[in-house]
Amino acid sequence: MAVSLESIQESGPTGLMFHHFHGSGHLKSEGSFSAEEFDRSLNSAAKIATLLSAETFLEKALSRKLAENDICCSFDDGLQCQFDVAAPVLAAKELKAFFFVNTGPHAGHPYVLEIFRIFRNQFFETKEIFFTEFDTTLQTTMSETFSTAKKSFPEDYLTVYPFYTRGDRWFRYLRDEILTPEEYLKTMQLIIKAHGTSIDEINQKITMSRESITDLSNQGHVVGLHSHSHPTNITRLTTAEKLSEYSVNSQYLSSYLSKAPNCMSHPNGVYDENILRILREMEIFVGFRDNMDLVVNRSNLEIRRLDSAFLPRD
Ligand SMILES: [Zn+2]
Repeated sequence: MAVSLESIQESGPTGLMFHHFHGSGHLKSEGSFSAEEFDRSLNSAAKIATLLSAETFLEKALSRKLAENDICCSFDDGLQCQFDVAAPVLAAKELKAFFFVNTGPHAGHPYVLEIFRIFRNQFFETKEIFFTEFDTTLQTTMSETFSTAKKSFPEDYLTVYPFYTRGDRWFRYLRDEILTPEEYLKTMQLIIKAHGTSIDEINQKITMSRESITDLSNQGHVVGLHSHSHPTNITRLTTAEKLSEYSVNSQYLSSYLSKAPNCMSHPNGVYDENILRILREMEIFVGFRDNMDLVVNRSNLEIRRLDSAFLPRD
């Protein structure tokens, strides 16, 4: 069944999943919400489902009392624009939300995926122009890999996300399935340098400060784990690396919150049984995915979420 706002009324509790906002000094980027759009999108969702504050949603999840049409608001990736633009809207509504924060950017390891996205939005008129430059660069530096990938690209790759264009899906195929993380990073560094900026410069502008994270928690919002380095595909890591992703993430957030986080969202919605076991051992019992796919025998660590792309803004 096609996903839409109405999907939140069917079979199971849902998180609304937000990432990017513009206003208060943050530039508009693909899919970003203004404060007004965010406000209206929450109103639309609250008309057809029960919008709960994060703490209530969490308690109901833990006691297995969530109703089918209970929903909550959540944010991924620890971006300053969420604090500057979305948090004041939540305050006006007296609504508390989940903020899932990856902490690598606080430790000198920028979340490059997000930085690359901002770079694409601010340095290229359209994403298709960027995709062309990416293809051209790859054709020059790794011509053999590039032509092999062209032949192996499955035409239905990621068609489960209907808002991706063919260009999006091809780019993600190269990035997530063909290139190693190092190869992808190298390619992007070449392109960023050619446009006269750097990863560090962009990182400073977009990462949510530790003071803002503490402030959110003090306001009653629920801050949760989202891994440390936000791997593109965390299941590719060894068990020790997976554990490290979440325990280091927890250590950082614990120091900002003076308590250990007890919930999480899966980076890129990716996880495996091994990761669920690691999380349970860390006493994390509530977690969110990034899509609305049906999961058989879904646990509380696999609560579905509706991408904000599906929410009306007017
Ligand atoms: Zn994320």
